[in-house]
Amino acid sequence: MSEDMAKQYDPAQVEKRWYAYWEERDLFRADAGSGREAFTIVIPPPNVTGVLHMGHALNETIQDILIRSRHLRGCETLWVPGVDHAGIATQNVVEKQLALEGKDRHQVGRQALVEMIWRWKDDREATIIEQLKRMGCACDWSRYRFTMDERLSRAVRKVFVSLYRKGLIYRGKYIINWCPRCRTALSDEEVDYAETSGKLYHIHYPFSEGPGYITVATTRPETMLGDTAVAVNPDDKRYRDIVGRTLRLPVIGRVIPVIADSHVDPEFGTGLVKVTPAHDPNDFEIGRRHGLEQVQVMNGDGRMNELAGDYDGLDRFECRKRLVVRLQGEGLLEKIEDHAHSVGHCYRCDTVVEPYLSSQWFVRMKPLAGPALEAVRQGRVKFHPERWTKIYFDWLENIRDWCISRQIWWGHQIPVWYCDDCGEITVSENDPDSCAACGSRKIRQDEDVLDTWFSSQLWPFSTLGWPDQTGDLKRFYPTSVLSTAPEIIFFWVARMIMSGLEFMGEVPFNDVYLHGTVRDESGRKMSKSLGNAVDPLEVIDQFGADAMRFTMVSITATGTDVYLSREKFHLGRNFANKLWNASRFVLMNFPPDFDPLAVTVPRFEGDQDLPERWILSRLQEAAAEVTRAIDSFRFNDAAQTIYKFIWHDWCDWYIELSKGKLEGPRAERTRWVLWHVLEASLRLLHPFMPFLTEDIWQRLPHQGESIYQRPWVDPDTSLVDRQAELEMALLQEVIVAVRTIRSEMNVPPARQADLAVIPAGEEVRTVLGAHAELVRNLARVGRIDFVGPEGKPRASGTAVVGKTELFVPLEGLIDLDLERRRLTREADRLRDAVVQVDKKLSNRNFVERAPQEVVRREQHKRQSYLETLEKVKKNLARLSG
Ligand SMILES: [Zn+2]
Ligand SMILES: [Zn+2]
Repeated sequence: MSEDMAKQYDPAQVEKRWYAYWEERDLFRADAGSGREAFTIVIPPPNVTGVLHMGHALNETIQDILIRSRHLRGCETLWVPGVDHAGIATQNVVEKQLALEGKDRHQVGRQALVEMIWRWKDDREATIIEQLKRMGCACDWSRYRFTMDERLSRAVRKVFVSLYRKGLIYRGKYIINWCPRCRTALSDEEVDYAETSGKLYHIHYPFSEGPGYITVATTRPETMLGDTAVAVNPDDKRYRDIVGRTLRLPVIGRVIPVIADSHVDPEFGTGLVKVTPAHDPNDFEIGRRHGLEQVQVMNGDGRMNELAGDYDGLDRFECRKRLVVRLQGEGLLEKIEDHAHSVGHCYRCDTVVEPYLSSQWFVRMKPLAGPALEAVRQGRVKFHPERWTKIYFDWLENIRDWCISRQIWWGHQIPVWYCDDCGEITVSENDPDSCAACGSRKIRQDEDVLDTWFSSQLWPFSTLGWPDQTGDLKRFYPTSVLSTAPEIIFFWVARMIMSGLEFMGEVPFNDVYLHGTVRDESGRKMSKSLGNAVDPLEVIDQFGADAMRFTMVSITATGTDVYLSREKFHLGRNFANKLWNASRFVLMNFPPDFDPLAVTVPRFEGDQDLPERWILSRLQEAAAEVTRAIDSFRFNDAAQTIYKFIWHDWCDWYIELSKGKLEGPRAERTRWVLWHVLEASLRLLHPFMPFLTEDIWQRLPHQGESIYQRPWVDPDTSLVDRQAELEMALLQEVIVAVRTIRSEMNVPPARQADLAVIPAGEEVRTVLGAHAELVRNLARVGRIDFVGPEGKPRASGTAVVGKTELFVPLEGLIDLDLERRRLTREADRLRDAVVQVDKKLSNRNFVERAPQEVVRREQHKRQSYLETLEKVKKNLARLSG
């Protein structure tokens, strides 16, 4: 066993074995027929556009912790993996590749492009699966899904047809968000708004009859070419007289009326607004109320068309430039003001989004939102952290219809067929061969595809087999927890709740955990374009997957952002090393015939010693806290609890305490406790560090094929021993205090010191007396004397523990003069160092120009010099005492 445990822990060696081992034994496959309680997670399907980033690494780790811990706790766990076809995003990536070859999609054609994307998808998909496996994710690969699988596509059609028949899907010509680069509609959620310093142009519109003009203000002057009215608020007294008069639109010459509409804000600009029904959503509504003409002056590629007169064929921004120059020339431009406003950008390519009039398909959301609000109000779905609940309510209460058609080729083509003969439409789950109205065979399918979120909103049930009534669906729906990034709470989480309620009659999950954003050390979001992104695979190569996982959850409090740097992964790696080394020590002390499973240990009757009682008590408490913390999504608390238990209680204390007892009468019992606590700790740690724990567990005497199949550590309250914990705490404090004195006073490690104690009370005296041996061994102490206040030794290192006073006489232990001189020199050196830092910090140039991080480091240094100096001064005083 121990022979092949390498001296140095090598994660690459350890990690590569176990995933294959788990897969060969099919350990992650869920059994729909078992009698165990189900615990299900559907993975937020990564976009097939690319490789996984650190945000994924965090989320996959969280889900894996949930799945593995529940599996050990006896649940039938199912983690459904899969990827999303990611409509626009994916098509954009492939189109970019085409562009490098100087081609665009229209030259390639629909079918060829879609085939290209499929090939590309197969390649990327393999990479993503490999990454998930390297991270250790306990996914059930037999249930792997893709949003464009045959069955998932059937689900999409069934949902479309059903909503259409209920009147919840409709087609209409509306102003939608349009990306001129992607040449497709976008939903409201797909537009990212950025505060922009733009311009406000004040333009004169002359009256068509008689002298005079009015002034309108606009941020997008090129749209004036499509104006069909100017509007004022009916309550605006300034403009009462001109309502009903007509204006001559500059450049174009069209005669347009001045109308009154209560939607106009009298405070904006001059209180007179131009109305462009074809290019602005508010104007669109005004136009409908007043029966105005819709003049569309721009095409879908962002270029002006023939209705824009002289500007036909120009890009929208070029048109704006030239038009402004012309208006200026004609004396029609009153002024240009700076104007900060928010401008929408395409979330996939960052192009400025254009409000655009076109025929699109929409889902009527209000009727679906009602039940989804109710479900959360009733607590059937809970958000963690809780603050997201309000954000969810706000969005659903103000929900707008969802534009679901996209003018791209990659995705689920809309199941609607138009008849060339009678003009009717046929909406069908299966491809029809004739028109449902007139029977004509001249039908064409709608060319558009559905928004990618239309299929991902069905993910919790479409992956389990819906629309078929499968065993999986019965057994594993609703799922248990959804863990995801908060950015997609509207795109995805809310819509899943709505569609789950509509089509399954039940919420899709009970708990939603929204994890934080992964940022770099200075707080910037990690992204490829900023060049600060960290690749999970590189981290795994350098530190190991276990170290990456453990670090990420350790430093992330519930729902808060994660500030990552490479250095931080040392935390996980050091912990893995510590556990490896401690386990190696334990294993080396097991004789070849040691069989803890056969030992019937007289469990804690009679002669149990304090360290045993204490470590077993601590183990129960650690197990209870890890369980509680995982259940309340405090993964960092869970990780820190197991870390402290293993590192401090187990490695630093118990293993040290056991060293003297591995020979002699208590040997077998001590070995059993060592084995028992280590084996249990590995199970508690397994969800966080699956590879390392499996590896060590396999080397320990064990039963079964894998630690993944062992039960969780069920805390046994009868083993919780407060008295033992209190006594151990006292002994630990005394030992630490003596060790500190020894190191601060430079006592050579081999020299035995003496210890004088003024105990705070009888109990302290009893405990210290009873366990004097333990203190002697761990603090290298010879005699321990209890003294009264009058017996204080001179020239001692001192410490106070509770109200107990400790003295380590230094006379004869160290050369007092030499030590005094050393400490004096040390004090001088520290004073100098403080002066140097002060110089730096009083230099304005430095403070203003150096990065904040550097300044902070200097301030920190100063603080730590001062603290050390205080200690040195105190120790000097003791030597003179
Ligand atoms: Zn775009
Ligand atoms: Zn027809």
